[in-house]
Amino acid sequence: KASNLQGYAPICLGLEDFYIRRLYLRIQDCFGRPIASPPDAWFDVVERVSNDNNKTLQRTTKISRCLNLGSYNYLGFAAADEYCTPRVTETLQRYSASTCSTRMEGGTTALHVELEQVVADFVGKPAAMVTGMGYVTNSAILPVLVKHGGLIISDSLNHNSIVNGARGSGATIRVFQHNTPSHLERVLREQIAEGQPRTHRPWKKIIVVVEGIYSMEGELCKLPEIVSICKKYKAYVYLDEAHSIGAVGKTGRGVCELLGVDTADVDIMMGTFTKSFGSCGGYIAGSKELIQYLKYTCPAHLYATSISPPAAQQIISAIKVILGEDGSSRGAQKLAQIRENSNYFRSELQKMGFEVLGDNDSPVMPIMLYNPAKIPAFSRECLKQNVAVVTVAFPATPLLLARARICISAAHSREDMVKALEVISRVGDLVGIKYFPAEPKKH
Ligand code: PMP
Repeated sequence: KASNLQGYAPICLGLEDFYIRRLYLRIQDCFGRPIASPPDAWFDVVERVSNDNNKTLQRTTKISRCLNLGSYNYLGFAAADEYCTPRVTETLQRYSASTCSTRMEGGTTALHVELEQVVADFVGKPAAMVTGMGYVTNSAILPVLVKHGGLIISDSLNHNSIVNGARGSGATIRVFQHNTPSHLERVLREQIAEGQPRTHRPWKKIIVVVEGIYSMEGELCKLPEIVSICKKYKAYVYLDEAHSIGAVGKTGRGVCELLGVDTADVDIMMGTFTKSFGSCGGYIAGSKELIQYLKYTCPAHLYATSISPPAAQQIISAIKVILGEDGSSRGAQKLAQIRENSNYFRSELQKMGFEVLGDNDSPVMPIMLYNPAKIPAFSRECLKQNVAVVTVAFPATPLLLARARICISAAHSREDMVKALEVISRVGDLVGIKYFPAEPKKH
């Protein structure tokens, strides 16, 4: 892929040689630190408005309002909603914005108890525990689940919260090639013999950690294959559904529903409420014994303030809408819409000649830029034409695999998408990122 770099850097729009050199120096210089973007190529402080479905962003310093193609607002719940908003407002008045207490010290209201049952039922597990933050759910729970003497086998592109949780656990960590079940099996075979009883192994416990939809790749997890390998080698499966719960599956229940995997075969189901449910917080779902154990041992439950009551109410209400328990068919419509929007947008980008990662049905679609010097150019030119796109680079991706990541929402209309596609196509020509020949348009 390094050849993609040659010849492209000099044509980057608005980037003087000086800037390119500075950018590269900065990349080399700041291993482990984020790369600064030039001020006119990114949003720093924004204004968002709920009553336009949160579809737009506006810089506080500029007049123009941009179509937001970067939000995880997959089902459009991060907006004024006829069912959720009155209930959230009522909860705010009744409970206030915070419990100002940990779960064990007065921070558990009836709403928290209800939320955990609603989430467990929704994801298809006997019990669930909810925390105030998705990131912390991974980073604080993995160290409780597995410790020194245990083995974590992690997908090479797992989210930073998983990486930090695994590192903090003290367990041995092995990484398998991204979404490659055959490599996972090889790693497992290196560690244990097939069929060996758990009591005779060198590891106290083995946990395989994967994501439902990979947030930087837009790919669906090869869950059926991974689950059957884990069964064969008696390893636990930990599934992070941050981007898939609510967004995929016939009734929004995530990748298990979409790919026909029995939830009983996934030992630990994790997810966040910051995407499809338009709220905040995270959950872990599993057997009653596991959740009870976590509630007595996990620092995120014992020492952190419980999830804000209005946020909890937003999740309960959003799940009721998804399941049609609000008495309308809006949930089913949203699910059909996100699927239709995602597949339409992805196929149009591919027809234009872009290299788009990920699978059908996934609302996350990265467009490959490769050259990190193209990031500010792509972002700036889209912004000039009122389209806000998130660009991602090292250290969130490998150095030469920079990309623009589009997240599609059920709230985007066909008109929004047509406009965005026109802009992205023009900018793609300018920046030189249409790596494939475009398909001729059918009239
Ligand atoms: N897991 C994955 C796969 C994620 O992408 C993210 C954040 N986008 C998180 C966990 C953390 O979730 P939150 O932003 O809700 O804290």
